[in-house]
Amino acid sequence: MEKTIKTKTVKAKTEKAPAKKPAQRKSIEKKAVEKKPSNSKTMTKAQIQIFFERLREQRPNPETELNYGSPFQLLIAVLLSAQATDVSVNKATDQLFQDAPDAHSMYALGVEKLKNYIKTIGLFNSKAENVIKTCHILIEHYGGEIPQQREQLEALPGVGRKTANVVLNTAFGQPTMAVDTHIFRLGNRTGLAKGKDVLEVEQQLLKRIPTEFIIDAHHWLILHGRYCCIARKPKCGECIVSDVCNWKERFDYGAEIPELQSTAEFDS
Ligand code: SF4
Repeated sequence: MEKTIKTKTVKAKTEKAPAKKPAQRKSIEKKAVEKKPSNSKTMTKAQIQIFFERLREQRPNPETELNYGSPFQLLIAVLLSAQATDVSVNKATDQLFQDAPDAHSMYALGVEKLKNYIKTIGLFNSKAENVIKTCHILIEHYGGEIPQQREQLEALPGVGRKTANVVLNTAFGQPTMAVDTHIFRLGNRTGLAKGKDVLEVEQQLLKRIPTEFIIDAHHWLILHGRYCCIARKPKCGECIVSDVCNWKERFDYGAEIPELQSTAEFDS
């Protein structure tokens, strides 16, 4: 009995797992981002209007916290920010953008020199390779400029739908919605835009947010999710939109119960 178990253990450790087929990999990646939509009631149009009016009042000119000086630098900063904090990206790009501000100069660095600038950022090896390949394509096909079409952006190495949405919105003012972990959580939790995956939440947000707020909505939501509606212990007690939020547990986290209105009535 003991022998059988030992043999199995060694086998499990030394056997190389068979490479996943593309379809299997996609399914695993999809599962990783899929979560159950919350049971929060969907916010009404009137609630959404107030929600964004307040966020706009709080931050009239919201901006990304990534430092950049051109669409090219924004693209590189966003590409580097995958699974990294904006602060860590800014620390690395501070010197990088001074020495290599555009596609031509960054391509001239080559992969190894680029790694030296970004080695404090997670996944820097693959990111360095993607950045140099991206620079090469930008130089070859777009004269070093950033294309403004989603398909062209998403065809660049290391650039997915979220990165393309950020660039289209922040650099070119297009009404796109990049859903990151903060926006996914906030949309589901508040009832603003519920969905089982990021694409569903993105589509709901684009459908439900009034046109007057759509360009800046991405930044308002990220900043609200990052600093107030945080994953653990959301600051509902100091939240400026707690009266229009539909998350049932907000009262447990300090949200004020409206006068003459019981929790049950408010949530019904
Ligand atoms: S009340 Fe709480 S759950 Fe609702 S938006 Fe504010 S911080 Fe988030």
